[in-house]
Amino acid sequence: MSAVLLSCSTAVAAPAPLARPSIAIVDVTVVDPEQVHTSMPRTVLVEDRRIVAVVEPRKAVIPEHALRVDGRGRYLMPGLVDLHVHLFNLASKRPPNDWTFPLFVANGVTAVREMSTNADGVKQARRWNDARSRGEIVAPRIIAAGIAVGGASPQAAIDAVDAAADAGADFIKVFSELPQAQWQAVLAEARRRGLPVAGHVPAQVALQATAAAGQHDNEHLMQAVEACSSKESALIAGRAAGGEALSTAQLDADTRQAAQHFDAKRCRAVAAAVAAAGQVQIPTLVLPHTEAEGSAAALANDPRWIYLRADERLRWQRAQATLTADDHALFRERWSALRRIAAIFHRADVVMLAGTDTPMPGVYPGYSLHDELELLVAAGLSPREALRAATSLSAHLPGVDTNSGAIAAGRRADLVLLDADPTRDIRNTRLIRAVVLDGRLLTREALDALLADAARAQAP
Ligand SMILES: [Zn+2]
Repeated sequence: MSAVLLSCSTAVAAPAPLARPSIAIVDVTVVDPEQVHTSMPRTVLVEDRRIVAVVEPRKAVIPEHALRVDGRGRYLMPGLVDLHVHLFNLASKRPPNDWTFPLFVANGVTAVREMSTNADGVKQARRWNDARSRGEIVAPRIIAAGIAVGGASPQAAIDAVDAAADAGADFIKVFSELPQAQWQAVLAEARRRGLPVAGHVPAQVALQATAAAGQHDNEHLMQAVEACSSKESALIAGRAAGGEALSTAQLDADTRQAAQHFDAKRCRAVAAAVAAAGQVQIPTLVLPHTEAEGSAAALANDPRWIYLRADERLRWQRAQATLTADDHALFRERWSALRRIAAIFHRADVVMLAGTDTPMPGVYPGYSLHDELELLVAAGLSPREALRAATSLSAHLPGVDTNSGAIAAGRRADLVLLDADPTRDIRNTRLIRAVVLDGRLLTREALDALLADAARAQAP
C-alpha cells in the first residue's frame, strides 16, 4: 500500500519516510458544512498534517516544492466520518476487519468510530492510528472505540464498566439485551468514570426514558419504532415481566406489532422530548434500507463483492440464506416505520449523525456512507445538513477526538476533492477526484490503484 503513497509523492525528490510534501489545492471552491453559503474560490495549503492556510488564490504563497492540485471547477470538503463501524469480530474470533481500510479511504471516509471492541481492540486501534500517522498504512483514523458491557447482575455490570474504563475505552457500549437494572448501574458507573454511554436503547427501557436519564446516544433508532407506536407501554411492560431472557424472536415480533401501530402524533412528542434531552441519534438508515431492499441476487451481482475478505463473503451469504419470509416482512415493515421516524425526528431538530454499521451484510465499507447521506436527505435534511452529520457534527459525541470537520487553518488535513458541488446534489459526494489523508495526497489514480490492490488481496 505504501507503493501507492510513494507513487504520488514522486513529484518531489525522494522524501524521507516520515516527510509529507506540502500540498496546494489551487483555486478550489471550499465547502465548509458549518457555513450557510459556499465561499469564493480559495487556495488551500496543507503542510505536514495540518491545513495551514485558506486564502484568496492571488494572495497564496505556494512553496516551490509543494504538490499542486488544480481545484478549478472542483469542490473541497472535509473528510467524511462514519460514526458506526465494526473493525473487530470478537464473537466469531475472525481477524480484524482491516480489509475495510482501503474501501473507506477510496470513498473519502477519513475517520471512523469503532462500536464494539475489548481491551486488545483498543490497543490495536491505537497501533493502527500510529501506523497511519507514520504513513505505513492507508487507513481512516479511528476517532473513538467503545467497549460493550453486560453482566448477570448490576454489580457485574459495574465491574465491566470499570474494566472498560481501565482498558482505555472512549465510551461504554450497551446492547438491547441489557436488563433495566444493569443498564441503570452502567449509566451511573460510566458517569462516575467520566465516560459517555452509547449504543442500543435497551429493550426493557423506553427511548424517552433513556434520553432523560442521560444515555448519550442511541444507535439504529433503536426502540424508536416502539416509542412511535400506540403499543409501546404494553410491549415494554411485557418485556420487563419476562425478565432477562429476551429472545430476538420476541423483539422482532414486538417491532412488527409496533410498526403496524405507528402513531405519528406520539412520534412527534417523542421526537420533541429526545431533542430537548439532547440525546444524539445515529440512525444508520442504510442498514434497515439494505435489509428491506436487498436480495441474494443483488448480493451475488454486486461489483463490490470482489473487495470482501473470504470469511466476510461467507458470513454475508449465510446471513442471506437463512432469511425467512417472516424476516423479509419484518424488514419491510421496520423500514417503512423508520423512514417516517427519521423525517419526524429531523423536523423536531433531533441531532442525527451519519453512521452505517458496516460491514453488516450488504453494507459495504465506505460506499455505504454515501448511501446514508442520500437517505438522510430523503428524510428531509438539506445536502449541507447531511454533510454536517458526516463531518463537523461528530464533535457532538464526547470521547470523539476531532479537529477536522472544517476547512480552516489549524485543522487536520483530512480532505476530499470533488468534481461537483455536494450542496447541490448529495450524490456528488461520490465524485471523488482526490483525498488528502492525514496530510498525504491520494490522487484519483492512486485511489484506483488502492482499490485494485484491495481486490487483488482478496482474489481467490
Ligand atoms: Zn453495530
